Amino acid sequence: MIKVNKDKPVRTRYAPSPTGYFHVGGARSALFNYLFAKHYNGSFILRIEDTDIAREVQNGIESQYDNLLWLGIVPDESMFKPINKYIPYIQSKKLDVYKEVAYALLEKKLAYRCFCTTDELEKAREESLANHQTPKYNRHCLHLTEQEINEKLKNNVPYAIRLIIPDNHNYEWDDMVRGKISIPSSALTDFVILKTNGIGSYNFANVIDDHDMQISHIIRGEEHVSNTPYQLAAIDAIKQLDKYKDSLQDFDFIYGHLPIVIKEGGKKLSKRDHTLKQFISDYKEMGFLPISIDNFLVNLGWSSPNNKEYFNSLEEIFSEFDGSRISCSPSTFDFKKMISINKKHMSDLTDEQYLKQVKSFLKIDLKQLKDHEDEILLLFRKDLRYFSDINELIDNLLNPSLIEINDELKNVYDNAKKHELGTKASLLLKAINEWSIENISIWLKKLAEDTSLKAKQLYLPLRYCLFKQEHGPEFVKLVYIFGKDYCLEQLSKFDAIL
Ligand code: GLU
Repeated sequence: MIKVNKDKPVRTRYAPSPTGYFHVGGARSALFNYLFAKHYNGSFILRIEDTDIAREVQNGIESQYDNLLWLGIVPDESMFKPINKYIPYIQSKKLDVYKEVAYALLEKKLAYRCFCTTDELEKAREESLANHQTPKYNRHCLHLTEQEINEKLKNNVPYAIRLIIPDNHNYEWDDMVRGKISIPSSALTDFVILKTNGIGSYNFANVIDDHDMQISHIIRGEEHVSNTPYQLAAIDAIKQLDKYKDSLQDFDFIYGHLPIVIKEGGKKLSKRDHTLKQFISDYKEMGFLPISIDNFLVNLGWSSPNNKEYFNSLEEIFSEFDGSRISCSPSTFDFKKMISINKKHMSDLTDEQYLKQVKSFLKIDLKQLKDHEDEILLLFRKDLRYFSDINELIDNLLNPSLIEINDELKNVYDNAKKHELGTKASLLLKAINEWSIENISIWLKKLAEDTSLKAKQLYLPLRYCLFKQEHGPEFVKLVYIFGKDYCLEQLSKFDAIL
């Protein structure tokens, strides 16, 4: 059951950390949040969670934002389009707030200072592992006396602040995708809410922001299921602070955890796996249409009520995307499917739209075919998986690599020679007065009659002689584009070519 509170506007968010570039997993989360918000006339927000400064990549924010826009997933609010009430939309500008809340929790004894060093923590971790226990913080610093704490503070010993996870408690929520989930507090550890460098941790800053930005639904990847109980623990504690007493209802989030994406064969898709392109910019550069990527991504974990797989626009998708029908079973990243979706969307373009797009990917010099640019581009239209394919296809035509002469080609060619295909083709071609597709078709028909060669017997040797290819785009059009002189010259060498 999808819960939408009539008195609370739907506000969803995509909250990437700029520690990596815009990735299919992130794009899928962003898309689902966007579609859900739009279905309920709500707002979709982009928030940058940049509290992990050390792992940030250059242009990480731009990569997220620009590629979101390319996909048509336009945020209603973001650091580039802020609403005053909710600023800032980037966590590094809000560090004072996280700090203030962490110290307020400390004051209320809901959190404590932890002076343990990384080495000490690592040692304790290893000990737990050696004892076959789940590594948890051993609460050493929870038991420090007031005097010990003051001593360390006086000596400027660095510290983090940890939240106290209460005993005997269950963290429960009704997940939009997975139903009821309950995790006992015994599975949790007192986690750091304010790091030694004074910066709020992910699980802490995240809930403060979701509250402050009045987020209603939190839709994110399955990998965050294990973070949710920590966030619920943080919420329970924060709710006890005076600062939040008038806005407790803004902590009532509805969670939905999307299924993992796996590769064919069942392995989880990992960002480090280079066998598969995973960044949205890769697909943009290859020349996929953005709607194809949206369409592909929405099928990763969601199905429409009538099991439709192709959608022409985001509007068409969000009209059906009410948040139900999100599956919890893993969804497979099938590149072949992505291509078939893209081919379908490309086939829906008008010739004009197609030409405009494909030209922006054309890098190859058309040489003698320059005057026929549009015709050549249209000739390959059906063969493209994505726009950048055009370069390879044209290159194969202009600079054919030597194909291996197989027995079939050899036999068919020898047979054509016996029927004097070369000479007859030249003579009949010379006789064409008006160079047109229609007359070239007539030429081929006559040639078939004169030589009694049929289909492959006729076309294969001609195609090989003229273009050094066994297969290729529509033959009549190719002949037309390459022109009479070129074809006559090639045909004059017919017998010598093979
Ligand atoms: N910054 C987190 C991430 O990039 C956000 C997770 C969430 O949506 O809560 O995974």
